Amino acid sequence: MRIGSHVSMSGGLLGAAEEAYSYGANTFMIYTGAPQNTIRKPIESLKISEAYMFMKEHDISDIVVHAPYIINLASFKPTTFNLATTFLAKEIERTKAVGSNYLVLHPGSYTEKNLDYGIARIAEGLNEVLTSDLELFICLETMAGKGSEVGKTFEELASIIEKVKYNEKIGICFDTCHTHDAGYDIANDLDGVINNFDKIVGVNKLKVFHLNGSLNPNGARKDRHANIGADQNNPKGKDYLGKDALLRVAHHSIVGEKPLILETPWLDATTNLYKQEMEMIRNGI
Ligand code: FE
Ligand code: FE
Ligand code: ZN
Repeated sequence: MRIGSHVSMSGGLLGAAEEAYSYGANTFMIYTGAPQNTIRKPIESLKISEAYMFMKEHDISDIVVHAPYIINLASFKPTTFNLATTFLAKEIERTKAVGSNYLVLHPGSYTEKNLDYGIARIAEGLNEVLTSDLELFICLETMAGKGSEVGKTFEELASIIEKVKYNEKIGICFDTCHTHDAGYDIANDLDGVINNFDKIVGVNKLKVFHLNGSLNPNGARKDRHANIGADQNNPKGKDYLGKDALLRVAHHSIVGEKPLILETPWLDATTNLYKQEMEMIRNGI
C-alpha cells in the first residue's frame, strides 16, 4: 500500500520527505507553495536531489503535487482565467521538477455563469495548457459540490475529459470526503459507486486517492474533512463516513499501489493524527 499525507514544503522537498517519513508514510502530497497564492520559491532551492536520495533509502515514491486553489479554469473573467492557465503551466513545470507524475487540480467554479459554461471553460483552459508530450497526469479531483464547483458528479468530470484534446493526460483524484458529500454512498455501496464511475469515466482514469472522513452526512455538499473514524469526542467532530468504509476504500483492488493521501484535520496547531491514521488504515483495524 502507498499511503501518505499532505506535508509541508517549507523545508523544500527534502523537508517534505522527512516529514512524511516521520509519519511512517511511503508517499506524500505537497503544495509547491502556499495553497492560497502563487508565490513560489525557485526550484533550485528545493533540495530535490537530496530528497530523492532520502526517499530511495526509505522507500518513498509516487509523490503527488496539488495545484493551488486560486487556479479557477471555470472563471468567465479573463484575468482570473489567464492567471489560471499561466499558473497551471508553471505548476506543470514544478511538478516535473520535483519528479512527480500527478498534479491534482480542482476543476473550477463557474460563479455567475452555469454548469455547461464551466465545463466548456475548464476544457478550454486545459486545452491551452496540455501538450501531446506531457509526461504527467493532470488529475481532476472529484468535488463536494459546494457553491458552483464543477466536478461533483462523474458525468461532469467525463464531459470535461471528453472535450479535452490530449485527454490521455487527464486522470482523476478520487476524494472520499468529496464524493460522499456530493451524494455518492461510498459508506454503504462502494462497489456500486465504483461501477458507476467505471461506466461514466472509466476506472483506468483513477490515479490518486484522497482518503478523508467527512464531518457531514452523505450529500451535504460541505467539504469539511474528518479524521478517519472519528467519534463525537474528537475535537474536530464525528466522521460520517466511518473507519470501516474508509478501510474498504483503501484495501479495494482498484486502489492497489496507487497513492492514498490523507488530508485529515490537525487537532490543534501541533497535533496531527497522520501516523495513527496511517497505521490504522495499513493494518486494517
Ligand atoms: Fe483538493
Ligand atoms: Fe482532496
Ligand atoms: Zn476537501
